[in-house]
Amino acid sequence: MINLGEAKKVTFKTLLENNIKDYQFEGLSLLSKILDLDTKTVITENEIAISLEQKNLIEKLTKKRIEGMPLAYLTKEKLFFNETFYVDKNVLIPRHETEELIDYFFSLIETENLKNKRILDIGTGSGIIPIICKKKFPKANIFTLDKSNNAIKIAKKNADEKEVEINFIHSEIIKANINEIDYVISNPPYIKTEMLSKLSNEINFEPKLALDGGSDGLLQIRKVINKTSELIKKNGKFYLEIGFDQKNKASRLLNKKGFFINSTLKDLAKNDRCIV
Ligand code: GLN
Repeated sequence: MINLGEAKKVTFKTLLENNIKDYQFEGLSLLSKILDLDTKTVITENEIAISLEQKNLIEKLTKKRIEGMPLAYLTKEKLFFNETFYVDKNVLIPRHETEELIDYFFSLIETENLKNKRILDIGTGSGIIPIICKKKFPKANIFTLDKSNNAIKIAKKNADEKEVEINFIHSEIIKANINEIDYVISNPPYIKTEMLSKLSNEINFEPKLALDGGSDGLLQIRKVINKTSELIKKNGKFYLEIGFDQKNKASRLLNKKGFFINSTLKDLAKNDRCIV
């Protein structure tokens, strides 16, 4: 039998020696999840006994972490917009850039009355976008679509936990039967296929479906733009997350479909990240 103090020491050391930059945060997150204790208790207590079963689980998950599995898939949760969402290997781990996209969306429509407005998110994933939108605008009608049944299931689970009502559409983008949308928001897969293997080992644990933008990175963006041009209302607004080098190409695709570029947003790293 070991105690929490020893478990912390060993876990931190193993993570640090294996180049996990945020080893303390990650170690605390793993321990608090496995031991079902809040982080404050894990930080301040040392004498709590750890059973053999818990010790084995700590070792197993620490090993998976140093093999590259992202922390969120081990703890099965990710904090996004101050809310904890369930995630697993079937969905993209929500990114800070998407928080910025939603923030931007909110900042531009804060003054508008969204009662009965129809908002569509294309590419549900874990359901972060529609859920955060519904919480902010409870009177709006929120729709979201994804071709992955597993993603829809996870997003529904998150929506149920947060007690929000969302209209889920399980469909390919082009086949989705929906129209008269006031606001479309989307974070489609936009990484070039050849880049995927060159990115960090961790990214390769995430579903290819959620990341792969085809040979030029724009395959899904094109589909999202084409479909949006069909289903959006005449004066509707479209908020699209893009790759750091896709602003010009995506703008041209948008113009071709009759959209007018209102504004673009750079992310914290000063990369172009969102087109309105
Ligand atoms: N909308 C989800 C997110 O932003 C999923 C996006 C995706 O799978 N490309 O996390």
